[in-house]
Amino acid sequence: MNLAVDSPALDLGWTWRNRFADLGPAFFTPTSPTPLPEPHWVATHPGLARELGLPPDAWASKDLLEALSGNRTLAGSRPLASVYSGHQFGVWAGQLGDGRAILLGEVDTPAGPMELQLKGAGLTRYSRMGDGRAVLRSSIREFLCSEAMHALGIPTTRALCVTGSPQPVIRETVETAAVVTRVAPSFIRFGHFEHFAANGQTEQLRQLTDFVIDAFYPDCREGVGNPYARLLEAVSARTAEMVAQWQAVGFCHGVMNTDNMSILGLTIDYGPFQFMDAFNPAHICNHSDNGGRYAYHRQPNVAYWNLFCLGQALLPLMDDQQQALDALEPYKTLFPAALTRRMGAKLGLAEPQPGDAELVDGLMQLMAKDGVDFTIAFRRLCDAAGGERESARDLFLQREAFDAWFDRWQARLQAQTGFDPVETSAAMRRVNPRIVLRNHLGQIAIERAQQGDFSEVDRLLKALAAPFDERAGEDDLAAFPPDWAQQIEISCSS
Ligand code: AMP
Ligand code: MG
Repeated sequence: MNLAVDSPALDLGWTWRNRFADLGPAFFTPTSPTPLPEPHWVATHPGLARELGLPPDAWASKDLLEALSGNRTLAGSRPLASVYSGHQFGVWAGQLGDGRAILLGEVDTPAGPMELQLKGAGLTRYSRMGDGRAVLRSSIREFLCSEAMHALGIPTTRALCVTGSPQPVIRETVETAAVVTRVAPSFIRFGHFEHFAANGQTEQLRQLTDFVIDAFYPDCREGVGNPYARLLEAVSARTAEMVAQWQAVGFCHGVMNTDNMSILGLTIDYGPFQFMDAFNPAHICNHSDNGGRYAYHRQPNVAYWNLFCLGQALLPLMDDQQQALDALEPYKTLFPAALTRRMGAKLGLAEPQPGDAELVDGLMQLMAKDGVDFTIAFRRLCDAAGGERESARDLFLQREAFDAWFDRWQARLQAQTGFDPVETSAAMRRVNPRIVLRNHLGQIAIERAQQGDFSEVDRLLKALAAPFDERAGEDDLAAFPPDWAQQIEISCSS
């Protein structure tokens, strides 16, 4: 074992700002990563590295490998674990906190200030019963899904790389440890606000909220109204848009606890998530979610419930309860409007019109009845804008019902001023992905990686980075899932 913890700090040329660390000791515990033996690269993201201003040969550096595995300090970093609380599965869970994620700090990059976090970097004060580690399997899933979501235009935390180690980690079976380097402007969650509210620490609550407003929502201080209520409204709007985007690609998050909700409206904490194969509105992707609280069709309401918790946490900063309720109210119209707009775009509807929601709903009901593959159905409809119905029709058992829906859709399209089927098809192909991170695709890449072959992770990364493109050699990634895909069980264990 060669752990280089005593080496001088590694300087990557970044300027560090560390604004979260500047908030003070009430918000975190200074915590260094716990070294991992014999680290190796599992996956790297050259595009994101470039965005962060790293040189193209950065991955050749053994020092970088050590630093991003937690074995070596980065000059300028102030590693810490932050404290938060939260509601889990609808129940107040009390204090949680970064149990295995260590925030290295915040760096200035060409893309603006970014925080770097090592997930799986060892025990913290908030690890509770956990071991502070993440396994290779879930780290690969998080790495790939972050990029998949980003390329789909869905706000998300990102992942720069995954490193692995032979160190055993016990889950249902013995697995091995890995570390994901996550990147986001901020990892602050609804649960951070709930924490200080629940403990009656109003000054810290105000300090945290002021920081978030100043750094990320400066508009909330302009114009009239309580800035904290305006923040709640702005977060609600971003969350509505994010969840509408999830619904429009058939994405199930799996663990929408309030500690897994980003104050920036980013998709965060990839655990038992799934891009649906066969469409089932009541689909539950998390094997541990017995009651189906986080089923696909419940996500929009759960997001609202979570925003309500955030509102409750921010109450001490508002004049009265009504201010919070008023700030939450727009979600109820913003979400359906965002969903109809996104689903309409998937069907090539240029301008929203009355009746669009029903048209979309009609299709979704047919898809649900026949368990039609979500991604393939919309992709085939891209080719059908000009009236060629056969390939989409083949997916449905109830052909007559499909025909009736198809005729309604065609009539709606043809009534569009200047309707051009070729242009419409092209526009639809820009919003309906050909390739999403289906469970079985991740599983194949994971099983190879567990044998030491990381090529499939790399191939998937490249494909997911251009999900709308039709490229040779990727037909297997765009195909129907194999039968065994239904047997994959993904739980909270990660
Ligand atoms: P999650 O629902 O996966 O976001 O995790 C909920 C809480 O459990 C968070 O506070 C995590 O930091 C913590 N946690 C999850 N897995 C571990 C682990 N292996 N070791 C320590 N803490 C963990
Ligand atoms: Mg979490």
